[in-house]
Amino acid sequence: MTTRSETQTTLDHLLTEIEHRNPAQPEFHQAAHEVLETLAPVIAARPEYAEPGLVERLVEPERQVIFRVPWQDDQGRVRVNRGFRVEFNSALGPYKGGLRFHPSVNLGVIKFLGFEQIFKNALTGLGIGGGKGGSDFDPHGRSDAEVMRFCQSFMTELYRHIGEHTDVPAGDIGVGGREIGYLFGQYRRITNRWEAGVLTGKGQGWGGSLIRPEATGYGNVLFAAAMLRERGEDLEGQTAVVSGSGNVAIYTIEKLTALGANAVTCSDSSGYVVDEKGIDLDLLKQIKEVERGRVDAYAERRGASARFVPGGRVWEVPADLALPSATQNELDEKDAETLIRNGVKAVSEGANMPTTPEAVHLLQKAGVAFGPGKAANAGGVAVSALEMAQNHARTAWSAERVEEELASIMTSIHTTCHDTAERYGAPGDYVTGANIAGFERVADAMLAQGVI
Ligand code: GLU
Repeated sequence: MTTRSETQTTLDHLLTEIEHRNPAQPEFHQAAHEVLETLAPVIAARPEYAEPGLVERLVEPERQVIFRVPWQDDQGRVRVNRGFRVEFNSALGPYKGGLRFHPSVNLGVIKFLGFEQIFKNALTGLGIGGGKGGSDFDPHGRSDAEVMRFCQSFMTELYRHIGEHTDVPAGDIGVGGREIGYLFGQYRRITNRWEAGVLTGKGQGWGGSLIRPEATGYGNVLFAAAMLRERGEDLEGQTAVVSGSGNVAIYTIEKLTALGANAVTCSDSSGYVVDEKGIDLDLLKQIKEVERGRVDAYAERRGASARFVPGGRVWEVPADLALPSATQNELDEKDAETLIRNGVKAVSEGANMPTTPEAVHLLQKAGVAFGPGKAANAGGVAVSALEMAQNHARTAWSAERVEEELASIMTSIHTTCHDTAERYGAPGDYVTGANIAGFERVADAMLAQGVI
C-alpha cells in the first residue's frame, strides 16, 4: 500500500516530466498541476489507480492535429493562420469540446483547455470524451465574408478528423452561432452528409438545441446557488460582479437577475462597466450580439447609473459574489485579496481556469466558496451533449425540458463534487471534489478498456 506522500512524490516527478516533454506550454502545465496536486488521496486509497502508466496516459493526448489555414481577406491578400484540434481522451465517448478563435491561441492553450474538458465532461455523467481546438485567427474587425472564408478554409482540413461518433466540436471564445453555421455548411458540402451531430451550438431550425446559448451562464449561476445553499443562503439580494461580455457573461447576468441578484458589471479587454442599477441586458445584448461592439458603448447609452472604467478590473467593485466569465488567469492573487477584503462569499468560474492557482488558494484559505470551472461551467457542454441526443433521435425538446435537464445535471455535479471532497478528507473543497470525481470516472473507463 503506497502512502499519500509517496503517491504525491510520484505525481510530482510526473509533473516535472510533463514540463520537460511539453516545453513552452505554461497554461497546460498549470492545468496539469492543478489536477495532479489533488489526486494523491484517491490514488493512495485505490491501488488500481496506481497502475503504472495510467496517469501518464491521461496527460498525453490521444491525437494532436496542427494545420495551415490559408484564406483571403477582403482586399484579396492571402492570410495564413494556424489551426489546432487536440483529441485528448475518448474513454467515455467521442471527443467533445469547443473551438476557440483568438490571437492568443497556441498548442499549450488548446492542450490546457482539452485537459480540463476531459474532467468537466466526465462530471456531467454523459457519454462524452474530451477535446478542444481552435486557431490564432482574430475575428475582431473582420467582415462576415472574411469570417466565412476563414471558417470554410478551417473546415476544409478539420472535416477529416471529426464526425458524430468521432469528435464533436462546438463554440468557445470567438466562435458563436455565426461561425458554427459557416463551419457546418462547409462540412455538409465536403462530405455530402446531413450529419447534425458533428457540431453543437447550431442554430434553431437546423439541429440546434434550445437553451444551448444560455447553458454555460445559467449552469454557473445554478452551481453558485447550490454552493450558497450549503451555507444557508440564496441569491436573493446578493450583489454580483461578472467579467466578460460574451455568451457566458450575458447569460450569467440574465440568470442572476432572474433569481433576484443584482449583477452590476461586465467587461472586455478595454475595461469594465459598472452599473449600480444592475446591467440592462437588452442594451448589452444589442451592443454585443447585434452590433458586435465594445462595452464602453453600454455606459454611453445607459445614462447616469453606469460608468465605464478604462483598463480596470471588475474585481475592484465590492460584491457578495464573483463570476469570472472572460478568460484564463483573469483573476489573480491581488484581485483575490481585494475580493476577500470586500467580503466576497463565493467565486464561481464561468470561464475556463480564470482564477490563478495562488488566487484559488487565497480564496479557499479565507473560507470563500470556490466553484472550479470544470464543475461550475459544465452546463454548456452538458447541453451540447443533450443537443447530440436530440440530433441522434431526430427530435427537438422544449426549452422547459432542456432547462430541467440542465438544472438536474448541475445539482448532481454539485452534489458529486461536495460529497467526493468530504469522502477524501477535504470538506468544502470543490476543486479536490471535482478533480477526483472526474478522474474516477475517466480512470475506471480507461482501466476497463486496457492499455490503448
Ligand atoms: N467551450 C465550452 C466549454 O468550455 C463548450 C464545449 C462544448 O459545448 O462542446 O466547455
